[in-house]
Amino acid sequence: MRAKQPLLLLLCLMACAAVIAGAFHLGSRRAHADVMEQGSRQLQLMAPDLQSLLERFETLPFVLGQQHEVADALAHADDPAVVARMNASLQAIQRQAKVGALYLMDRKGLTIAASNWDQPLGFVGKNFSYRPYFSEALAGRAGRFYGIGTNTGEAGYFIAQPVYRHGSAGGPIDGVIVVKITLDEFESTWASSEDPIVLADRSGVIFRTNRPAWRYHSLHPLPAATRAELARTQQYMGQAIAPLAEPTGPYVTRAVGRLGWQLMLFPGRERALRAGIQWAAGAALLLACAGVSGWALHQRRRRLQERTESRAALQRAARDLERRIQERTEELSETNRHLAQKYAKLQEAERLLRSTRDEFVQAGKLAMLGQMAAGMTHELNQPLAAIRAFADNARTFLARGMPEQADGNLGHISDASARMGAIIAQLKGFARKDEAIASVDLARSVQASAFLLESEFKRRGARLDIDTGAAPLHVTGNAVRIEQVLINLLRNALDAVDGAAEKRVWVAMAQEDGAAVVRIRDSGPGISEQVAAHLFEPFFTTKPSGQGLGLGLAISSSIVQAMNGRLGAHNPEGGGAQFELRLPLQALSNHNDNANNEEHTP
Ligand code: ADP
Repeated sequence: MRAKQPLLLLLCLMACAAVIAGAFHLGSRRAHADVMEQGSRQLQLMAPDLQSLLERFETLPFVLGQQHEVADALAHADDPAVVARMNASLQAIQRQAKVGALYLMDRKGLTIAASNWDQPLGFVGKNFSYRPYFSEALAGRAGRFYGIGTNTGEAGYFIAQPVYRHGSAGGPIDGVIVVKITLDEFESTWASSEDPIVLADRSGVIFRTNRPAWRYHSLHPLPAATRAELARTQQYMGQAIAPLAEPTGPYVTRAVGRLGWQLMLFPGRERALRAGIQWAAGAALLLACAGVSGWALHQRRRRLQERTESRAALQRAARDLERRIQERTEELSETNRHLAQKYAKLQEAERLLRSTRDEFVQAGKLAMLGQMAAGMTHELNQPLAAIRAFADNARTFLARGMPEQADGNLGHISDASARMGAIIAQLKGFARKDEAIASVDLARSVQASAFLLESEFKRRGARLDIDTGAAPLHVTGNAVRIEQVLINLLRNALDAVDGAAEKRVWVAMAQEDGAAVVRIRDSGPGISEQVAAHLFEPFFTTKPSGQGLGLGLAISSSIVQAMNGRLGAHNPEGGGAQFELRLPLQALSNHNDNANNEEHTP
């Protein structure tokens, strides 16, 4: 497109130039036709004028030639009085008729009398026999001639007529009378014309014109015979007649007079040229106007196009933005859906985990119950055997009439059954699946746990020391679960001290950094490095099969974590192992509100 533009411009310029040139040509041609038309009209007006000027005096020499006086003057040419009279009358006629000159010649061509007799260049005494009009008139015919006066140097049209003896035609011819008509006045009317006007003789010699430089030049080169003839007749006073130097161009012409003259008008080429230039200028102006309005139109169209383009671009951008926003929205909602799905899965997993954990806890509890069963039967058997023995003895006392002793035994029976009831209630409470969250007094939980394992400690010959600390420690949680954790830790400690020389377990409680801490230490072998790595893993146990499941610490740890607490273990200085249970303390304001609602096994 860009490469084409200069070429296009060039073509445009060429087309413009062609149009302008065409307009010039057309304009000048039309103007030329107009000018020719005008010129021929002008000639049409001018030619009759000239014609009448030439014809007007046609009869004057003829009439004079018939006059007795004129014939007499020729007959008495030596009589000065006659000549003087003749001169005077010729002069009077000349003045009256307003001709150039009137003069009378004898048969030899010598001028006898003339209207200009009293002027320095008067014709009297001059011989004009060499003029063709003289010989023509002498031959009895009208002689007509145009030429420069050899005497005066003034050009004129000469008409000559014979003068007959006694004034009667057909008689012998004694002389010739001539009228000279000057065309100066006529020529002077041309001066105002802008176009060259020419009067040319039959051989094409210009003798009258409003272009001084053209005078006595021929329209075309003259043949030698014509040139010789001109020299002989002294028509143009021996002037060398050269062809016109400048080309004349087209012209209009009309024949005029009796000598084969041509009245010619050369319509000015300047006018045609001017018209052409005017047309060309007009065309250029029109083109410029067209160009300017075309350019304006083009600009306007381009602006409109630009506007619609920019509008389209804006719309495209808006659409694009909308589409991208939609895409982004879709992406986001897709991500959202994904997240929601993941969240749902997570919730599902959490639910599953919680239920699994709950099941675990329950399973752990039941497993612990199973483990405790042996101890429990022993614990229950003892009071049961005591009850039977007391009852037997009571019957014996009653039979022997010793009611007081019998009553003492019934009291023992009551004590023993009360103890059995307490043990059973404890077990029932522990086995119950209780999730209730409440304020828990940690000291009480520790005591309850210890109570359940009391007989087991005794049976194995281990000693349990409990220091519940100065202030009561309350935490928020489920009492059964907390007891489950404590029983677990106490059982593990009991197991650990089984083979030790001194079988001891210490429980100590304290408040540290807003947390309740329960430490359970034993005199066992401590936790080996190997074991420490897997301590809280489910199903990790070092105990022989049937005794341990490896779930205790795993379950305990998950219970503690669920209460936002921590369960840890290490080997303290002085040997053995120490487990540390850390639970967040309950906020003080809640203590009293919940104190009455505590759910505890005694
Ligand atoms: P289990 O008691 O059924 O083996 P636990 O999870 O309660 O399962 O204990 C896992 C293991 O941790 C035990 O097998 C034992 O090796 C170790 N262990 C737990 N408590 C102690 C302790 N007080 N002293 C030494 N080792 C301990």
